[in-house]
Parts: sequence; structure tokens; C-alpha cells
Amino acid sequence: MTKTQIHKFGGASVKDALSVQNLANILRNRLRNNFVIVVSAMGKTTNHLENIISLKLDRKDYSGNSTILKDFHLAICSELFPEGHVIFPKIENYFILLHHELNKSISKDNYDEYYDRIIGFGEILSSRIVMEYLCFQDLLVLWQDARELICTDSDFRFAKVDWERTRRNCQSQLKPKLEQFPVLTQGFIGADRAGRPTTLGREGSDFTAAILAGSLDAASVTIWKDVPGVLNADPKIFSGTTLFVELDYQQAAQMTYYGASVIHPKTIKPLANAGIPLFVKSFLDPEEPGTKIHARAKTESIPTFILKKDQILVSLKVTDFTFIEEKHIHQVYEQLQALKLHVNMLQTSAISISIVIDYELFKLEQLLTLLNQDFEIRYNEGLELLTVLYPNTDSVSKLLDGYELMLEQSTRNTVQLVRRLK
Ligand code: ASP
Ligand code: MG
Repeated sequence: MTKTQIHKFGGASVKDALSVQNLANILRNRLRNNFVIVVSAMGKTTNHLENIISLKLDRKDYSGNSTILKDFHLAICSELFPEGHVIFPKIENYFILLHHELNKSISKDNYDEYYDRIIGFGEILSSRIVMEYLCFQDLLVLWQDARELICTDSDFRFAKVDWERTRRNCQSQLKPKLEQFPVLTQGFIGADRAGRPTTLGREGSDFTAAILAGSLDAASVTIWKDVPGVLNADPKIFSGTTLFVELDYQQAAQMTYYGASVIHPKTIKPLANAGIPLFVKSFLDPEEPGTKIHARAKTESIPTFILKKDQILVSLKVTDFTFIEEKHIHQVYEQLQALKLHVNMLQTSAISISIVIDYELFKLEQLLTLLNQDFEIRYNEGLELLTVLYPNTDSVSKLLDGYELMLEQSTRNTVQLVRRLK
């Protein structure tokens, strides 16, 4: 029996009609039974849906934005399908459903749950369009709702996987289908035990591919990207990048921890645990080998650069002439956890704690409210956090040209700089 392969296609690989046609071409000679395709929302759809949610939260009119989103999907379909194809009324239906969900009430208290009910529409739309197009091209695939497979807790927007149930769902529902046909499903989305939609965190579709791989004892996962594989820096930001032909799980995991956006940070662990190799390949050059991430890789320690934008540096100073103690750090972390804010860097001094966090709608405001009784708080927005793994002096000194250094931290193998454009 052939072992299962999982292939994940992200937003950039389905961003327009041409990309969807390219995806079909990649799959044409690869598709077989025991083959799972995981797709993300098309292009920047998830960001658009986030905008709609924030307009709704501010009680502003979002109808124009939702029309733009619908037209975007319909325009792609017009290029892919003949007039009168079943996909057109289907898209209309999905937008009716979306509006029905959007009409429900939202507040800062139910924001996370509301968000998860809305945001998954991007994946549902995309997976429908891609599935219909593949079938239209005589590439028969079955459509599967990922919310029936990926079982999670109710921690909306950052749901944790219930591995046991998910495995059971995959074995009982997905495996029998896969024995006969390839199956196409969505990344990023799941459901809690009550059936309420949840999501695995932004860019979580890679993680879905890994969850399915673990649950199906798959042979491999392939993530199709618009870059040649895993590079030592993002080629859209840095020049003269180097491709890793192979990486071991640990180095790959470390890169994703610091924010290398090529793979979602949670992807590596389930694959490493099961010894399933991960291939990162270019959908622009599908015959090139890309990067293979596996246990026995010979890894080179070349300087590797990871840039996170839109960072906020928050400095919390104790106000009562005491020094920073464990209890202060504990208190800060407790509030961060309650707000689901992730700390990208932490530094303490005698009288202050500095943290670097991602920008998140209205959450900073809430954090300030929760902590301003006990701390004097200052913050700077719009910063960049640059992490260098295996730095050499040459590589680091240039990184501050034109920037002001706000905070720095180094260990033997890493340097982290928080910088602001001058
Ligand atoms: N569409 C989701 C996002 O943009 C999930 C993903 O792309 O992996 O965050
Ligand atoms: Mg995406």
C-alpha cells in the first residue's frame, strides 16, 4: 500500500487564477490515492477578513470591504470556470452565510470566538474553488471539512489540538476515503468538542499539514512556497541569501521559534516526533529539490537572519522603590497569557522589565489597563526585532545602519536587536 503524502499550498500559491492553474499542473502527475492537499485562504484574504472584523468591532460599515472580497473570489472563478458553473452560486451562498455570521453581536469579550467563526471563511472559499477547478481539469479530489477532523480545545484563535480525537477522526473518516481518492482540505481551522469553529493561530496551515501527517502516519509533508526552500534569510528583505539543502529538525525549529515565516513554528514537533520528513519546495520551480528537513541532516551553521516587523517594546518600571522580583515577572506574564500575547523577547534590570510583543488590535491597551496600577509603563510601537543565529561580527555590524538600537540581547549563538528606523 502506498503511504500517505501531505501537500500544503499557502495563500501565495492560490492568490489568483494563474496560481490555481499552476497548482493543478503541479498536481497533475503527482496525484494518486493516499494524497492529502491542504490549502490556505487565497492571497491576503485572511487579512481582509481581519479588517472586516475590526470594522464590525468599531461599529463601522464593512459592506464595501466584503463586496471587494467577494468580487476578488468571483473574478478568479471567472477566469477558471465557464459561465454557469456551479462554483458561482456556491460563492454567493458562502457570502450569505458570512453575512449571517457577521450580523451576530461582537464585543471585546467574545472577540476571539467571533473571530474564529468568521476568519475560516477564507479557507472554505479557497478549498471549494481549488477542488472544483481540479475536478473540472479531470483531477478528481474529494473535499473534506477540516473542522470534522481537527479537534481542539476552546482556546479561540490559538486552539490547542486534541491529538487523540484528531487521530481517531483521521483514521476513521479520512483514511477510508484516502484509500480510494486524493482528498483536499483546509489548513488553519478546526473545531472544539462542541463543534464551534476554532483556529490554530495565524499562518497555521503548515501546522495542519503536520497534524494530519502525524495522525495518518504519513510518509512525508511537502510545503509549496514562493521561495526555493528554506533560506538563511527572507529573500524579499535580504539580498545574497543561501538555500539550505537540508536541515535537522532542531535547527529548523529554532529558526521558526525566532519568527522565520517560511514554516509555522508548531509544524516541526509532530513531524520530528514521528520521524516524518518535511520538504519545502518552490511552486515556481516544482522540479527543484528545495529543502529537506529530517533527523539525519548535515546542517551548516551559517549566519541566519530573521526579521519580525510591527513589534512593540513595553517597559514596565516598578514604582515603589523596590527591585524587580520573580513576583513582578510572574504578574506580567499572567496578564500576557490572559490576553494571549506572546513575548518575543524579555529583559529585566534592577527596576524594570522590558518585553517585546507583536502588535495586536486593542490588546496593548488592555495590557496597560491591567498593569498600570503596579508599574510605570512606557512603550514604543512600529519596531523591528531582528534575530541573527550563528552571527559573525561582520554580519551584525551592518544591521544597524540607518537604525536606532532600542534593546539588544546576545548569547553564544544568537544576537537579537530591537531597532527603529532613524
Ligand atoms: N490563512 C491563514 C492565515 O493567513 C492561515 C495560513 O495562511 O496558514 O493566517
Ligand atoms: Mg496565509
